[in-house]
Amino acid sequence: MNVIEKLTLLAENMDVVDPMSHPGSAPPCHSSLKKNLEPQITFAGLPGGGSIPLLKAMVTSICEKNCLYCAFRSGRDTERVTFSADELADTFLNLVNKDIAKGLFLSSGILVGGVYSQDRIIDTAEILRKKKNFQGYMHLKIMPGAEKDQIRQLMLQADRVSINLEAPNPHRLEKLAPKKSFFEELYTRLKWVQEIRSENVTNLNWRNRWPSLTTQFVVGPAHESDAELIRTSQYLFKEFHLARIYYMAFSPVTGTPFSDLPAENPIREHRLYQSSFLLRDYQFSLEDFEFDLNGNLSLENDPKSTWAKKNLAHNPLEINKASYERLIRVPGIGSIKARKIISYRRHHLIRNEDDLKNLGVSVNSSGAYLLLNGRRIPRQLSLEMPRVATD
Ligand code: SF4
Repeated sequence: MNVIEKLTLLAENMDVVDPMSHPGSAPPCHSSLKKNLEPQITFAGLPGGGSIPLLKAMVTSICEKNCLYCAFRSGRDTERVTFSADELADTFLNLVNKDIAKGLFLSSGILVGGVYSQDRIIDTAEILRKKKNFQGYMHLKIMPGAEKDQIRQLMLQADRVSINLEAPNPHRLEKLAPKKSFFEELYTRLKWVQEIRSENVTNLNWRNRWPSLTTQFVVGPAHESDAELIRTSQYLFKEFHLARIYYMAFSPVTGTPFSDLPAENPIREHRLYQSSFLLRDYQFSLEDFEFDLNGNLSLENDPKSTWAKKNLAHNPLEINKASYERLIRVPGIGSIKARKIISYRRHHLIRNEDDLKNLGVSVNSSGAYLLLNGRRIPRQLSLEMPRVATD
């Protein structure tokens, strides 16, 4: 089997393990190589906007763990592939030269323990950075059970590192991944990344900064509540400064013990992402979310609007006086608009709806929660569609 056939085989199952943040669909392509590899390419957003195509690859799809939802679990009848470090590095660079990929997302099944598998990822990364002088983006996976020193080596080469907790606590993880230990193998590794970043403030990595850190939860089959996920997310953002938390709505895979379970509602995943952004960027805390008796968020209403209806509908904010922290709590106003409002207010009074319009504030989205010079803002019938985003 050649390397392209191996990558294509990986593509059949890999999304189930790690879908990445917002995998974009590949643009229409003309070469057959590019076409064959389309499922292995995901698009990662850049901080300043735009995105780059990443090759998603695994050192091996053999795994000795038996996570109940996973296409690569041990014992599942599926063809497996393994790459040597040189083979993977050369294949990736070949795709970079052909303009098919610009960055790498590299993971692995666990073979002969987490330490051995981690070394294979480090080997590949070091070949790319040190021997081949690759200067592009690399997101490298931390293996459950990896040693602290290995994580440091990984961080020296990576732009982003991650390890998936999969579940919000040990009790839920047991239901998903009976051979994984929540604290010993997973949580401790997140903690070590943060320790390495804070202990080593001068001796940084090849880009002169430490990589960002992310994790992922599988949503649904462990019957975890949204409150459990949000509580753990809040802790992780606060303690370990995660750049992002991914919530993967469960989707059943044939040939696994969970094959007969229903797929999780994608709207639930969407609400969790909205909540996560509210925790990370909008200073929300667990107490600000409304949960039903089962500890779940509303699927119908986004969490920011739910909070605003309860807290601002009867106590609207004066737009000419409200602080940045209060303004970003108004549906339809995010950090960019709040900064724009504050900057405008330094020299002007916001007087009327034209001023609001010029500042990008929609009367229909935000008007119910604001006062304009002490008066309620008349809302108009509009053809504007209601927003569900978190800003
Ligand atoms: S550790 Fe679990 S989730 Fe990761 S590849 Fe192995 S079986 Fe799949």
